[in-house]
Amino acid sequence: MSHRVVECVPNFSEGRDLARIKVITDAIASVPGIRLLDVDPGADTNRTVVTFVGAPDQVVEAAFQGVKTAAQVLDMGSHHGAHPRMGATDVCPFVPVEGITLEECAELARRLGERVGRELELPVYLYEHAASCPERRNLAVVRKGEYEGLAEKLKDPQWAPDFGPARFDPRAGALITGAREFLVAYNITLNSRDKAHATDIAFELREKGRVARRGQTSAFYSSGKELRYAEGCFPCGNCGFDAATFGELEAHCRDQHGYELRHLLSLNDIDASRGVAGQKAYKAGLFTFCKAIGWYVDTYKRAQLSINLTNYKVTPPQAVLEATRRMAAERGLVVTGSEIVGLVPFQALLAAGRFYLKQQGKSPFIPVPDVLENAVFSMGLADVAPFEIDKKVLGLPRRLEQSLVGMTCADLADEVSRDTPAPGGGSIAALAGALGAGLASMVANLAQGRTRTAQDEEAVLLAAEQGQRLKDQLILAVDDDTNAFNAYMEARRLPQGNAAEKAEREGRMQDGLKLAVEVPWATASACLGVMRAADLAMASGNPASITDAMVGVQMGFAGLRGGIWNVLINLKDITDPAFNADMRDRCARLLADAQVLLERALAYGDGKLAAMLEPKPRKEKA
Ligand SMILES: [Zn+2]
Repeated sequence: MSHRVVECVPNFSEGRDLARIKVITDAIASVPGIRLLDVDPGADTNRTVVTFVGAPDQVVEAAFQGVKTAAQVLDMGSHHGAHPRMGATDVCPFVPVEGITLEECAELARRLGERVGRELELPVYLYEHAASCPERRNLAVVRKGEYEGLAEKLKDPQWAPDFGPARFDPRAGALITGAREFLVAYNITLNSRDKAHATDIAFELREKGRVARRGQTSAFYSSGKELRYAEGCFPCGNCGFDAATFGELEAHCRDQHGYELRHLLSLNDIDASRGVAGQKAYKAGLFTFCKAIGWYVDTYKRAQLSINLTNYKVTPPQAVLEATRRMAAERGLVVTGSEIVGLVPFQALLAAGRFYLKQQGKSPFIPVPDVLENAVFSMGLADVAPFEIDKKVLGLPRRLEQSLVGMTCADLADEVSRDTPAPGGGSIAALAGALGAGLASMVANLAQGRTRTAQDEEAVLLAAEQGQRLKDQLILAVDDDTNAFNAYMEARRLPQGNAAEKAEREGRMQDGLKLAVEVPWATASACLGVMRAADLAMASGNPASITDAMVGVQMGFAGLRGGIWNVLINLKDITDPAFNADMRDRCARLLADAQVLLERALAYGDGKLAAMLEPKPRKEKA
């Protein structure tokens, strides 16, 4: 069953009255399944940033409760603060963490906006990835005029709200909601107390870049002389080229360095359309979606690069760290480690661990805890403060304690043998598949780095990757199978006093049964993948591991057969003939594919094995 996590970061226009803030956060935390991660009130800004996570539906509900409560307890008419704002809930972004896309988060923002407009009758604007038109993407543009200008803004047809009435609510103002990527706050620590050392590298990294210089007399960039644009001479900040016109320089930056000069200048508050002669020249930084400065941290007695990564999928922390390590070495400095401020999404840390495993010539497709540990060691994440994976990583795969798969093998065998119907064949089928997947990955990982051809190398890495993914999926299915009937059992407990209630109960029971069929079907389908991965590992892997791969294929087949049997037996109580016919058809096709693969793979393996056992002809002694 898929694991989906969304983060929501509403900003409320109250940063001083902690009692009122608590009323709002209590309303958010009262929604089941919501984890309140952070409440950060600011007295100067008179604003509180709240961070919480949960499953998509629960997060939308909690966001609505927060917006509703803020509209009741806050009064924008008397609000003053140093931060621009437009409403009691000023801005409410949804952020993908695990198992959900940015586009799906934009849909959550639209759902919240629609409900706030309808039930609370407040005007709602959508921004960033949820924006209804390009002009509304930028938050600063949407919020222009702020609360004080909102009454006028709502009269302008250009600024009709996306949801709710175009009517000014003096107490609550307007809500701005949308979707954005997760922000990773990341610090890199140097073996120096000099803030200038950190700043020098930070300016090389950040998208905004720095004032361009040439003629450095030391490794530090600031030892060069500042460049300015002049009529007839427009120097490039990223190389020694001088253009005769601004247009020529723009084309050069685009073609040679891959950036838009006008965009770079606008990040530095220069409007190129007004002419740039006389202005300082700029050098673009290495990374987009990257903000960075240098600072000194007294607690650590070290200078740090303080970095915000606004899209870790494009600019991941490990890329920024490796660039920093290289530039530090050029300057006689050492990176002692790095630090995640707040939390990091599971996928970000997983990608970092896999990146370093590849660098080390190891298979990146080893068990997830080992990959995460490699990321922590490679990035030096525990350098200045402890890094506990369960506390720092958001969206970790479901915890396995307190479950069948948390037991020892002996305890699980005992549990199966007791006179209770569960765990039964469905869980054991999933376990068989998981063990087969483990073997496929093992055979592939033993071969990786030692294969004869690039094609074999690609094949074993694919087998390792699929083996890991299917193993993790099937391990969860061991417990899911035992819980598959929960929805059906809940429906059975519904009242059956009259005909309408009986029909409702019967409908929900049928839905529950169909849901229960999904679990063994998913096991059976995944097990065909296990067989394929083991087959691939057998063909490209080390001959010494051939019997391991054969066991993998056979275990995958046992899991597949078991999954199909469990699908079929669950169909007997389902009264939808079209559903049953379709399911039987899908099972038959899956089984046919599996039987062909099984016969071929085992014939190949047995053939290799027989050749190995054949007595080798002895050399005649002369
Ligand atoms: Zn250049």
